[in-house]
Amino acid sequence: MHTAPPPTIDTATGLLRGVRQVLATQCDARPPDCLPTLIVVHGISLPPGEFGGPWIDRLFTGALPAAAHPYFKEIEGLRASAHALIRRAGEIVQYVPFQLRAWHAGKSEYQGRSSCNDFSIGIELEGTDDTPYTEAQYGSLAALIGALLAAYPSLAPERIAGHSDIAPGRKTDPGPCFDWGRLRALLGG
Ligand SMILES: [Zn+2]
Repeated sequence: MHTAPPPTIDTATGLLRGVRQVLATQCDARPPDCLPTLIVVHGISLPPGEFGGPWIDRLFTGALPAAAHPYFKEIEGLRASAHALIRRAGEIVQYVPFQLRAWHAGKSEYQGRSSCNDFSIGIELEGTDDTPYTEAQYGSLAALIGALLAAYPSLAPERIAGHSDIAPGRKTDPGPCFDWGRLRALLGG
């Protein structure tokens, strides 16, 4: 079986080597001296429940055509991004260099600290709360987190949270179908 080599990160640019880059304009600098200390796992599908298609790329680059779907009209003007997306077949797409602040968490709090975008890295999994994520997605997520831990010593495997953990009552992703035990096992602990 052919498998892609594990991703690595060029810390000078904050970019993954060998993955598709669709660089978002919807990002900005982290606050001064603010290192990433948290990894946030999300789930996303556009339109909700549909996989594939160009729409996540378009949302994160501020180019989602409101006329293409009633849901897109609903979220018109939403300015959001994540550092990376893992598609159903395990393909990783990067939108924001890791040293920059992506706009994925919204109003949020982790261990008493608010505004999680400032100090986190956001990874989206293409999926829904109630659809099992794929084997390939767990593999790519573990490989990506491994690359992040290797590149950024400020991160730690103990500090990985779901969007629902940092915005309870407001966000439910990655949802009950996300298997945290499986991710931890893949990360080796
Ligand atoms: Zn989310």
